[in-house]
Amino acid sequence: MNDWFDVDKWLIWNVTALLLAASAALVTWWLRSRRIQLSFPHQPSYQQEIMDSLYHNSPLIFAIINRKGKFQDINRDPDELIGYSKAELAGKSFFQFLDEQSVEKTRQTFLSTLQGEKLSLEVRVQHKQGQGKDLNITTSPVVRRGKIIGILVFILDISERKRSSERIRHMAYYDDMTGLPNRRFFTKRLQEKLDASRTTKERIAVCYMDLDRFKLINASFGRDFGDIILMQIAERLTRCLPNPGDLARMEGDEFVAVLDHINDDEDVRRRLDEIMAMLEEPFDLNGIPVEITVSIGVALHQGESDEASMLMKRADTALHRMKENGKGDYLLHTSEMDPIALHKLTLQHEMRQALRNNEFILYYQPKYDLGTGKIVGMEALVRWQHPERGIVPPNEFISASEESGMIVELGDWVIQEACRQNKVWQTEGLPCIPVSVNLSIRQFSHRNITNKIAKVLMETGLDPQYLELEITESMTIDFERTMQCLKELTALGVKFSIDDFGTGYSSFHYLKKLPISRLKIDRSFVRDIQQDPNDAAIVAAIIAMAHNLQLQVIAEGVESESQVQFLRKHRCDEMQGFFGSPPVPSSGFQALLQNHHVNAALSV
Ligand code: C2E
Ligand code: MG
Ligand code: MG
Repeated sequence: MNDWFDVDKWLIWNVTALLLAASAALVTWWLRSRRIQLSFPHQPSYQQEIMDSLYHNSPLIFAIINRKGKFQDINRDPDELIGYSKAELAGKSFFQFLDEQSVEKTRQTFLSTLQGEKLSLEVRVQHKQGQGKDLNITTSPVVRRGKIIGILVFILDISERKRSSERIRHMAYYDDMTGLPNRRFFTKRLQEKLDASRTTKERIAVCYMDLDRFKLINASFGRDFGDIILMQIAERLTRCLPNPGDLARMEGDEFVAVLDHINDDEDVRRRLDEIMAMLEEPFDLNGIPVEITVSIGVALHQGESDEASMLMKRADTALHRMKENGKGDYLLHTSEMDPIALHKLTLQHEMRQALRNNEFILYYQPKYDLGTGKIVGMEALVRWQHPERGIVPPNEFISASEESGMIVELGDWVIQEACRQNKVWQTEGLPCIPVSVNLSIRQFSHRNITNKIAKVLMETGLDPQYLELEITESMTIDFERTMQCLKELTALGVKFSIDDFGTGYSSFHYLKKLPISRLKIDRSFVRDIQQDPNDAAIVAAIIAMAHNLQLQVIAEGVESESQVQFLRKHRCDEMQGFFGSPPVPSSGFQALLQNHHVNAALSV
């Protein structure tokens, strides 16, 4: 028998092979029945390793979404991003985690991606805990065997970036203290409204609001309390103007509001009344009730060409006009207000330059003793020696400089120059007489007025008894402040007189208490002494009253001999006016002092 074919061996091989095949089938069946898959270790390629590393360690999260928009796979646990685990997302729709506003644009993006496009967009998703998360997603089609089977979505968390840009935006558009929008935001919103009104033809009003005497609140209670009031005001105004962007804080104590859907002027008035009424109730400052009034300038949107900034400027102009005429009310802008405002602005600019170029000079007008005809004083009156317009009188620039605050600088110069000149004349041996300087309310309410004047007196070497300050009745309304200021200055040796007496608000109470040496009867009473018995009676009464209060009296604007006689008869102490001499430049006044120390027409 051929030994390579052995029947026994053949049988054994066959039976063994049969048994092996049967047991393999059995094991496979058993594994399948228990859902166990066997994988045999194999050597991954280098490329595969890179891909695995990218998949598991990428800082970017990427998800595979199937054609129906459902999660199929995700490379990392998305827990820290949206609070859900991988398992929780599996099989869920991508859209169910999106914020409502993001759904439609994401749907469009997915549809385009399924057409082969690669796109990028920002979406907002809802974290499991409820807060919103901002994501940037970039989509790319997943292609298998030439067919797009899904979408690869790369996900980047941009919440922090969004938050910081939101913070920057907030800082740029909102007022830190009150939380209200600021000027920039308001102007932008107003411009949008104006643009829209071109088609809707809607009427719009801009209201510029300024708190009255807010400086006084800051000065009396301190800035922190001032801030509390501003916050309370912001809160009350918001109640009248709840729509975001309709109200803004400009700066300091200025607010601006826009009123829309206006039917007529009456409608504007009604709404302004509402705003003012809202502020009427006293504010609470740590238990102290504080009353605040507001002045409002209003500009109505007139034509299609109106710009936001222009409308705001008009409202501001009306506000300034309102403040000039009083406080605690509103004023509608009218076209004739504009040129004046423009004129004032140019004037302010010119004045600032004039001060630098030494274009201001002082004229002096003598004051005479009505008994002896001797010059007993002089009033320094400012003039502007304009290079083109010649000598400009003060009534053309004083009120504008009071408004702009320029008067403080100009007034400082006047005091300095008057004291310097007086000292020079005294050193030259001319008679020692006081110089009066007009003080504006702005200078008067300046905190350091006493220090300033003390400094001028020290620097110029003028004895304080030769400086007299002229204030007006209106400046004494804030009695406490006036009292304190007058006390400090009279302690230095400076004297005070009340100018234009009889034209303002007076009270015997303050006349008696304030350290004043002289009353100056306003020239409007003196002018008609002869013709108008009322004026004659007023002048006589002022003289008698002043003397009773131990005050000296001077009459200003005296132009005729008969006026002099009347004043003498009623024992007025002094006079000032064209009858004695008009205001003259310093050289002219020096001559007066040298030659006519006694006025011949006045000497008896
Ligand atoms: P005021 O203080 O009442 O000054 C008197 C004004 O009456 C002066 O006008 C003077 O020229 C004018 N006057 C004097 N005698 C007569 C007269 O017989 N008849 C008439 N009709 N007028 C007479 P001026 O210099 O034009 O000053 C006008 C006002 O300007 C002053 O009135 C004063 O309120 C203000 N002013 C002048 N200089 C200064 C200044 O340096 N500082 C401040 N704050 N105000 C000043
Ligand atoms: Mg005066
Ligand atoms: Mg006067």
